[in-house]
Amino acid sequence: MDSQNLKTMNISAPQIKTLDQILPEEPLLMMGAGPVPIPEAVAQANGIVINHLGDTMAQIIGQVKTMAGYIFQTASPWIVGVAGPGSAAMEMAVANLVWKDTKVLSICNGFFSGRLSEMAERAGGQVEKLMVSEGDSANVEIIRAELERLKPEVITIVQGETSNTTHNHELPAIGELAKEFGCYLIVDAVCTLSTLPLHMDEWHIDAVITGGQKGLSSIPGVSLVAFSEKAWRRIDTRPYQLPQWTLDAKLATNFWHKASYHYTAPVSGLLALHEAMRLVCRETLDERFRRHQVCSEALQEAIETLGLDLYVPKVNRLNSVVGIKLPEGLEAKTVCGHISKHYRVEIAGSFGPPIVRIGQMGEQCRAHNLFRTLHALGSTFNDLGVDVDVPSSMAALENALQRK
Ligand SMILES: *Cc1c(COP(=O)(O)O)cnc(C)c1O
Repeated sequence: MDSQNLKTMNISAPQIKTLDQILPEEPLLMMGAGPVPIPEAVAQANGIVINHLGDTMAQIIGQVKTMAGYIFQTASPWIVGVAGPGSAAMEMAVANLVWKDTKVLSICNGFFSGRLSEMAERAGGQVEKLMVSEGDSANVEIIRAELERLKPEVITIVQGETSNTTHNHELPAIGELAKEFGCYLIVDAVCTLSTLPLHMDEWHIDAVITGGQKGLSSIPGVSLVAFSEKAWRRIDTRPYQLPQWTLDAKLATNFWHKASYHYTAPVSGLLALHEAMRLVCRETLDERFRRHQVCSEALQEAIETLGLDLYVPKVNRLNSVVGIKLPEGLEAKTVCGHISKHYRVEIAGSFGPPIVRIGQMGEQCRAHNLFRTLHALGSTFNDLGVDVDVPSSMAALENALQRK
């Protein structure tokens, strides 16, 4: 061998800690705004690598699409996935339906709905934002007036605004409006899919976006978009080619519909998603929605029994992520740091409002996780000098769960 190749590297091999040296001894309970705990079947599947092409993968993708039809409540065949976060699915939905000078009405309740509007702007759209004030839900009459004034071609909205824990519960009526005005309605359901009812076809939604790591209780990094037949006709007859090759929904059908190559699919993540969706189907949506409602409402009641206030009024409150007001002078990062270090429970701060957030998505909605989290939360507040009633709140949680 040429001794040139054996010369010492200029940069030598680094000393690296093992994961055992970095990770906590006992896994933290993931009760923040995602990622959420994953079932064992999902974890197992995530450890498998198979050929991304061929009969086995084709069969798995076939089942993922069948399950998506149920979970999105759509008969549309235009279901595609993307290797990427929920944001990649957002961008796939937006970039395929919005182009130069497309008029877009972006209904903005906060951080994630704002991201949709930014994506629509970047795609070249003429975007008007309809700002919804904090704690409110998007209002149908105001949207109607905006549609009359602007005549947009596309509307973007989130079902649940994870950042400040509000729920756009008028989504069915907003879908009716979109139909009446001939608009394409894009709905971000990253946090809400399979935690709250969503009827894509019945509500006239043209694109539903989801990620893996929230409601579905899979891993982050593999996401899905469902397009309606109407949306697909628009995509099929786009006057401009999509600038993003990887996010091109038509190219994605090579893999998702023709069992052939677009890019190497995230095989392990897809197997994990398959398992997560299979568990949703086994549980059934009706039962899953009931479990989410029971757990989230019991948790909310117990948090109020602690003596703390919830951030959003009950009518507009998102059940999928619960926002808790922080007492004056206490910072979210102090609370989140303390509960993680001393009780091994992870909860989330926020991107603005003075709140901490506890997720109620998928595996987070289990009684044992609720008790541990509530105890950890109450004890944390007590440790930090805010007097809260832990025993009463634990009893309130048990009573609320029993009652339901
Ligand atoms: C988490 C979330 C996203 C973003 O998902 P990423 O996987 O972080 O890109 C988008 N929309 C909503 C409503 C979310 O909750």
